[in-house]
Order: sequence, then C-alpha cells, then structure tokens
Amino acid sequence: MAHFVIAGAGIAGLASAILLTRQGQKVSIFEQVADPIPVGAGLLLQPSGQAMLDNLGLLGEVREKAAVVHSLEGYSGSWKTLDLHYASVQQDWHGLGIHRAHLHQILWNCARDLGVTMHLGNGVSDFELHSGQVLVHHQLGELVADGLIVANGTRSSLRDRLQLKQRHRPYPWGAYWAVLDKEDWPFPHILMQRYRGARVMLGILPTGLNPLTQKTCYSLFWSLPKSSLDAYQQAGMVGLVTRIAEIWPEVADWLANSTQTTVAVAEYADVRLSSYHQQAVVVLGDAAHAMSPQLGQGANMALIDATVLAQCLEQSTGGRHDVGPSQIHEAFAQFSTRRRRHIAYYQMASRIMTPLYQSHYPVGWLRDIGTVAGRHLPAVYRQYMLTLCGAKQSVWDLRALNANL
Ligand SMILES: Cc1cc2nc3c(=O)[nH]c(=O)nc-3n(C[C@H](O)[C@H](O)[C@H](O)COP(=O)(O)OP(=O)(O)OC[C@H]3O[C@@H](n4cnc5c(N)ncnc54)[C@H](O)[C@@H]3O)c2cc1C
Repeated sequence: MAHFVIAGAGIAGLASAILLTRQGQKVSIFEQVADPIPVGAGLLLQPSGQAMLDNLGLLGEVREKAAVVHSLEGYSGSWKTLDLHYASVQQDWHGLGIHRAHLHQILWNCARDLGVTMHLGNGVSDFELHSGQVLVHHQLGELVADGLIVANGTRSSLRDRLQLKQRHRPYPWGAYWAVLDKEDWPFPHILMQRYRGARVMLGILPTGLNPLTQKTCYSLFWSLPKSSLDAYQQAGMVGLVTRIAEIWPEVADWLANSTQTTVAVAEYADVRLSSYHQQAVVVLGDAAHAMSPQLGQGANMALIDATVLAQCLEQSTGGRHDVGPSQIHEAFAQFSTRRRRHIAYYQMASRIMTPLYQSHYPVGWLRDIGTVAGRHLPAVYRQYMLTLCGAKQSVWDLRALNANL
C-alpha cells in the first residue's frame, strides 16, 4: 500500500482522498484550517461534475440539498440576450445549484467514514523530492510519503516549489456575494442575470437549502472591480441596496428586507501550469488551473481531476496495492497528459469570456449580439451549451466529452 499525502481538504482534496482510499491506498489529508467550513455561497454543478459525484456514489445526497437549474437567462435592460437550456443538449441534463458548505460536508463525511486520516489546523508548509519519494514538511513536523497531492487552492505556495513554468494572475474584478432565503422567488429553476454593458452584472442562482436555516435559498452575486470592493464594503448593505435598486428593484427590496444576510467578497485569479506533475508530486483543482467563476466550472474541474487521477493510478498499478515509485510517477505523468486538453479549453474560454462580462471595455453590445445570434444557429448554440455543461474537450472537437471520461 502506498501512502499519499494530500495538502488541502477542499473539493479536489476530499474527492481524491475518497477515491484513493477506496483503491486500498493509505491517505492522509493535511488542512491548514482547524475547522474547514467553506465560506462562500452557491456553486453551479454542471452535468460533468454531477457525473463525477455519481462515480463517487454521492450524487443522490447532493441532490437532496441542491436546486435543479434548467436554464440560464441574461437581460441587458429588458432585452433577453442569454437563453441557455440544459435540456437542449440532452433531455435529462440540468445544473444543480448547491451551497458550497453542503457539497464540502458531504465529501467530508464520506472521507471521514472511510477512515481517511485528517490533520486539521496543520498545513503543508514545504516538500522535498528524495529518491522517488517526497519528504513532506507540515506545521507540526515532517513525514515521508510515496506521493504528494497538492490541492490547496488558488493561492498555493506549494505550487511555486515545483520546477514548472507557471503563472498566477489575479483578476482585476471580483464579486460581492450574499445568501438570501426566499420561498416564493418566481424563478426557482433559472439562473437569472442582469447586465449593464460589461461593467455591471447581477445574478441570482437557486442554491437549494441554506445550511444555516434549512430554508430554500438563493445566491446573489454582484460583480465589481476590485478597486471598488473596499468602497462598497464601507458603504455596507445600504450602499449595495441603493446600487442594486437601479438595476433590479425586486432584488434590492429582497436584500433590504432580509434578516440573515451574510455578504462576502470573492476575488479570483487565473492560474496556468505547463504540466500538472513533477515526479511524485501532482497538482489538482484551483491550485493547478484556477479561473474566473464566469463559466461556473471550478468545482466541476476539481471533481474531474480527482476522478482522472484515481483512474490513472488504477491503470498504472493494475489494481495492486503494492505500488512502487515508478508506477506513481507514471500515473501522475498520465494525469498531466489526460487533463491537458480539457483544462486548456476552459482556461481559454474563461480568458475570452471574462472581459465580456466583467470589464470597463465597451464590449457588452458585442457579447449581446453574439449570444443572441448564437441562439439562432443550432451548431453554435450546441457548442455554447457543451461548454457550459463542462463537456467540451477542445475547440475543434465538437463531440460531447464522455460523461464517464
Ligand atoms: C465567487 C466564486 C464563485 C464560484 N462559482 C462556481 C460555480 O458556480 N461552479 C463551480 O464549479 N465553481 C465555482 N467556483 C470555483 C470553486 O469554488 C473552486 O474551483 C473549487 O472550490 C476549487 O476546489 P479546490 O479543492 O481546488 O480548492 P479549495 O476549495 O480552495 O480548497 C483548498 C483547501 O486547501 C486548504 N489549504 C490552503 N493552503 C494549505 C496548505 N498549505 N496546507 C494544507 N491545506 C491548505 C484551504 O484551507 C482549503 O480548504 C467559484 C469560485 C468563486 C471564488
């Protein structure tokens, strides 16, 4: 049995821990936070991420906490520009809006029940590669592992220790988030967005059950330049409500009358790596390929990474538990190869799309004309939809990614 250390108990780390433990490997997770309840709001799980949760045997549990999202609608003023329906790709496809805390808790409980060793409040601070193995330095000591899985998110400092070409570029835009309870919102299955050019974007995502109140909730996201986040924070809820009232008065009223609103700020970055492994170290999730949340793919990509990594290990070990360094290195190299195209496509799409929705450039009209025209061209519409579903493999490959990879 090989011993894998995972840095980070986020979505990528927990999903990998579950899959590798089920393969009979020994897994230890080191998480820097003592009580890792994820902050944040809703996530949109795409059909690609749902297929991975199904592989993990957790889709049923996730569904119980989530809202089914049938379509995405976007309005520039009163003009409906975006109108994407999951069922147009495949009748039974849909998104699932879920609070991050629920998804995290479900993965966490599963890993814990499988007996994964969790070291909380004890982050991985560094590592050294030694004759095929890894010496892992954590906050309370060090240990030798057969493989290190770096899954510690966008700001990973462990990634910097790898001799790989890499880039970490923070986006100049961020977002304000709030989770709001409501039983009678008229769009319980639609992700609704309102735009003013590329400068303003306000969205409401059905998010299923609020983990704090157990009531039906929605995530409000309000995209803002990073330079103005502080000013908004200082203006507090009143400032936010006033500004939102100009765009979507019903949402401003809802926000103003909400008693249990937590408003949080999110910032994001674009991370690129030339490869995802070096010898016995592999990088997954946001640590490997963080992108703006514009395409709603981050959690889905983290789940796909974990699944592919487990498949590569299974393949290179032939299902045996006595794994040597060369098989682990081979599995990690295979992971890099297998994930490259899908990740490259989504990073490219994210870089193209983000300024169309979050920038000061006068490109909102271009985006609106493009999305409206695309709706009337079935071949183009299908490619939009496959991209949204997480099922595009590359620019030129027009087939849907096999849900089972
Ligand atoms: C505003 C916003 C909206 C989003 N919307 C969507 C969406 O709709 N759909 C979607 O799929 N994705 C979305 N995402 C992205 C999604 O949340 C992330 O892609 C996903 O959580 C990445 O998972 P991860 O496991 O790679 O990293 P994380 O979830 O960030 O987990 C990393 C973990 O590592 C820990 N850690 C950090 N350093 C160390 C260390 N040195 N040692 C040990 N532990 C460490 C952290 O405490 C954390 O627990 C959104 C993100 C943002 C910011």
